[in-house]
Amino acid sequence: MAGIYIHIPFCKQACHYCNFHFTTSLRYKNELLAALLKELVLQKVYPGINPVRSVYFGGGTPSLLDLADINQLLSRVNAVFQVSPDAEITLEANPDDITGEKLAGWKSAGINRLSIGIQSFFQEDLEWMNRAHTAGQATENLELALRYFRNITIDLIYGTPGLTHEKWEQNVKKAIALGIPHLSCYALTVESKTPLDKLIRKEQYEPINPDQQSEQFLLLMKWMEEAGYEHYEISNFALPGWRSRHNSSYWQSQPYLGIGPAAHSYSGKERQWNIANNNSYIHSINQGIIPFEKEILTETQQLNEYIMTSLRTLEGLDTGKVNEERRFLLEASAKKYVDAGLLQRAGERLLLTNEGKLLADGIAAALFF
Ligand code: SF4
Repeated sequence: MAGIYIHIPFCKQACHYCNFHFTTSLRYKNELLAALLKELVLQKVYPGINPVRSVYFGGGTPSLLDLADINQLLSRVNAVFQVSPDAEITLEANPDDITGEKLAGWKSAGINRLSIGIQSFFQEDLEWMNRAHTAGQATENLELALRYFRNITIDLIYGTPGLTHEKWEQNVKKAIALGIPHLSCYALTVESKTPLDKLIRKEQYEPINPDQQSEQFLLLMKWMEEAGYEHYEISNFALPGWRSRHNSSYWQSQPYLGIGPAAHSYSGKERQWNIANNNSYIHSINQGIIPFEKEILTETQQLNEYIMTSLRTLEGLDTGKVNEERRFLLEASAKKYVDAGLLQRAGERLLLTNEGKLLADGIAAALFF
């Protein structure tokens, strides 16, 4: 089960909190697209990539692409790789780019899943985040998208200073009421050197309140459970049958290939990442060289990676997959978290409790070898 990720590094405007790789200049869009098409061919032999079960257009803002660009990229993917006939093909879209014409075009191109960056249904929150869309567009264009696509996921952000628990409940329950089958919900994080970081340092923006974030995460888990969603990964909720195949392959340590500047790839034993600079990327690809750095993972690193990702999932960490000597050590490290009610056992599996999920990264790190 392998996936291909294609990074589209363009956005209309910079959201204050974002530290992804993107530019707001579309000047070299055509050159970059040509380079993506070439990289797909250069990566033909990436280990373990066939058959391809999912393709994901992420960014940046892939909904800024013309339909012809998407068609070209998908035809190239199909020409170079063995794509399963039932592959999940996701496009990330921002609400302000969505029109009936675009939706029909995406569908005809073979896109069968949309990931829409809603973040909040409240205008003041969107302005605070410097999102390009309005609250009106969030609602209207999400409803429009539902007329064309059933398989939709939306992103929501919690823990922003203006988001009261009541507003958070309205955001989540609106998505549930609309029948959105998949939600990705993220606590706002302040990444260094982002505009948000600078605004907080200059005291122009209120700092983040970790208690508010924890409370909103606990509320979220309660509401989603009541609505029948599976909390199948720490930030992801799906109605039964609507999990993301692409994201699941990341969490199950399956191989994936990342195309484009700053895109990451993983073969099971090696991790590599392309240069996060559009011009250098284009220049290098034009010379037939993929500009990447690579890390070969030791067995211990692979195990730690498994501990980190599996603990974040509904299925948890299967200690049966760990050799006997290490299993003994793992169980010993886990005991204090089980005793504290942060981890629970289910047969050979270790699962985070809801309270444990608040501390997921720290607990995983404490179990590392
Ligand atoms: S649209 Fe997405 S990728 Fe672009 S700046 Fe905003 S959060 Fe970042």
